[in-house]
Amino acid sequence: MNRFYFDHNATTPVCPEAAQAWSCSLTDAWANPSSIHRDGQAARNALESARAQVAALLHCQPAQIVFTSGGTESDNLAILGAVRAHPGSRKHVVTSTIEHPAVLAACAQLEREGVAVTYVGVDASGLVNPDYVKRSLRPETVLISLMHANNETGVVQPVEQIAALAREAGVLMHSDGVQAAGRLQMPQVDLYSVSAHKMYAPKGCGALYVRSGIELQTMLYGGRHERSRRPGTENVAGAVAFGAAAGLAQDNDRLPALRDRLESAIIAQVPGTRINGSGAPRISNTTNISFQGVEGESLVIALDLRGFAVSTGAACSSGALEPSHVLLAMGLPREQAKASLRFSLGRGNDESQVDALISAVIASAAHLRRLSPTYAHV
Ligand SMILES: *Cc1c(COP(=O)(O)O)cnc(C)c1O
Repeated sequence: MNRFYFDHNATTPVCPEAAQAWSCSLTDAWANPSSIHRDGQAARNALESARAQVAALLHCQPAQIVFTSGGTESDNLAILGAVRAHPGSRKHVVTSTIEHPAVLAACAQLEREGVAVTYVGVDASGLVNPDYVKRSLRPETVLISLMHANNETGVVQPVEQIAALAREAGVLMHSDGVQAAGRLQMPQVDLYSVSAHKMYAPKGCGALYVRSGIELQTMLYGGRHERSRRPGTENVAGAVAFGAAAGLAQDNDRLPALRDRLESAIIAQVPGTRINGSGAPRISNTTNISFQGVEGESLVIALDLRGFAVSTGAACSSGALEPSHVLLAMGLPREQAKASLRFSLGRGNDESQVDALISAVIASAAHLRRLSPTYAHV
């Protein structure tokens, strides 16, 4: 059976350029980049070229890029590192209720360390109101962390505007840019997280942009790698593959049209559906749709059997059978949140795949509703 992949926000397939760069690095740049001999220098050169490629993607200086193991580590290093490095005993952080678990759990850890955290909510379209962020600032606020594009809905937050008020208040600004990198310009923030495997490179590598002059406490203790921000012999192959992928445009130009085609067909042909976050600006590859009376997990399985990979939301929390914290924060009732599916498109998708997906969704939703005791059959 043909497989059609519509779950690019969970991870992306590895593009040929990244695979090629990866495999070349294993033969040509296998040495330790810290070694002073020629073999080490070859690995160092490969690593530094990769750093320059990632820096070019973010329009920053190579020295401002710290390679990490992925988006989760970048978020943790930014949040824990910046707050722990900040002097003073009374500290406060502002974040939002719709962040990725990598941010929410890092903030929960800070709370255990005695840091106060304010979780700003979102409106029905999934947007944080900058006025609420402004009002939540205190004299002891150290950091604001607000994601750029949401992984479940694609909603793009007013990060630039909130970064401006952070600057005005002398507060550090971090943004989780894992879903936005390659699609949107990096806003003017102090810290920005990105992940290789969301951008057609292999898993296990990411980066944190650190604006010059920002102090970070390391999370690991060891050598002085990555300008003493992240000890451990560098993942040269991962970085080189990430660099190769970062140099390419992430999405094809057809994605907005493909996403609109998918949304309008489902809304028109499946009764009792709504698009979550449609009132807000969104990245063009993502759509999150509620199917009244349908269990989201059941629809994922039904579509999987027909050859389509989709998800109910975050890959990290699927299997938990809990409704998405993002959709609940947007005010959806639990039942409706559990009846939601995320379709995230990518480079490999085309019109014929989208049309096949539309037919499969129509058939699967109708089938599940016939079995549903709660769906009002009309
Ligand atoms: C995937 C994701 C992460 C985590 O990145 P990993 O590289 O998988 O650790 C963090 N934030 C967002 C928004 C994501 O989509």
